[in-house]
Amino acid sequence: MQLQFAKRMSDIKASEIREILKVTEQEDVISFAGGLPAPELFPIEEINEVNHIVLKEAGTKALQYTTTEGYVPLRDWIANRMNPRLSTSFDKDNILITHGSQQGLDLSGKVFLDEGDIVLCESPTYLAAISAFRTYGCKFIEIPTDEYGMDMTALENVLKKIKGIKLIYVIPTFQNPTGKTWNTEKRKKLAELSAKYNVAVIEDNPYGELRFEGEHLPSVKSFDTAGNVLCTGSFSKIFCPGFRIGWIAGDKDIIRKYVMVKQGTDLQCNTIAQMVISEYLKRYDIDEHIGKIVEVYKKRRDVAVECIERYFPQNIKFTHPEGGLFTWIELPEAISARDVLEKCLEQKVAFVPGGSFFPNENRENTFRINYSNMPEDGIIKGLKIIAEVIKVYMNK
Ligand code: PMP
Repeated sequence: MQLQFAKRMSDIKASEIREILKVTEQEDVISFAGGLPAPELFPIEEINEVNHIVLKEAGTKALQYTTTEGYVPLRDWIANRMNPRLSTSFDKDNILITHGSQQGLDLSGKVFLDEGDIVLCESPTYLAAISAFRTYGCKFIEIPTDEYGMDMTALENVLKKIKGIKLIYVIPTFQNPTGKTWNTEKRKKLAELSAKYNVAVIEDNPYGELRFEGEHLPSVKSFDTAGNVLCTGSFSKIFCPGFRIGWIAGDKDIIRKYVMVKQGTDLQCNTIAQMVISEYLKRYDIDEHIGKIVEVYKKRRDVAVECIERYFPQNIKFTHPEGGLFTWIELPEAISARDVLEKCLEQKVAFVPGGSFFPNENRENTFRINYSNMPEDGIIKGLKIIAEVIKVYMNK
């Protein structure tokens, strides 16, 4: 007899990235596929030291259950970090510690979405956000996105036409997968539309601190007069992802709802991980650490962009990110990035085809390059191979 699973399981597919990552576990593969930070930058010695300190000075507390909301000194730190950057006046009660910012997305689904609800998102958008929201039985409407961010006229047209939309999901800074950054005007307009149509916005921002050049831009949250914007953040890209510590911040009444659903999800985040990060932040200069990350990723971005300009055929579009981890390639429409990937994998080079970043549309001529996780010689070698394979397809 067959077991009977929930209806939602029929919509759930294995993430393409996770499948490709299995291939890239072989040592000699050049992988542009994951969104992985550079492991050589993880502050292992420092973590080892603060781990000892935490266990020695507060071992029983560190190994005990704690509150769902999370460790107070860490929530205080996050509020103080965000306030000048987002023009907010958060305190600890505006912050819920989550298992990576990914959990903030999943909890958002639990808090906001019923079966059949519509989520509005950029086109393309973050693959695992699609997976997280889809679990709650929602549908997506993709809003077209130009080089300055989401098309606000298209967004307003949808909001006018379809009543009852509850959630808009955006990544305005160094977007995953495109590396694009929204201009200030669009950020402001989104906050206005969220107030006018009474829709919640999730402003997902795991990459905002990794700016290589140009000015920091105000967050969508900074224009939010209605309290409708929630911001997610993470230690994954500025510290290390293995701790799985992130946060969601917003209006206190909304955060209370998240706390209630998190209780039923996992009770709380790992206590010792929160305390170790907090102790690290007390003893070390995180800005200096972020500075080192930015320096390395900027060089890798420069090399990746240079290689694309030099080796890829001329009529290929690509983004020039001012920060973050990704650039996004658009091939001529007739070429499928999946076919290109297949040929590249034969030569042990991997990337993620763009199709899965579109919840509805199938833009198979696109793909994402992650440049943060590889030394420069690997980037050059890998991109040369991709360029050669693309040229073969262009000449077919
Ligand atoms: N949002 C976006 C846009 C991401 O790219 C990622 C990670 N790749 C996440 C959220 C989740 O990150 P984490 O759970 O490690 O904080």
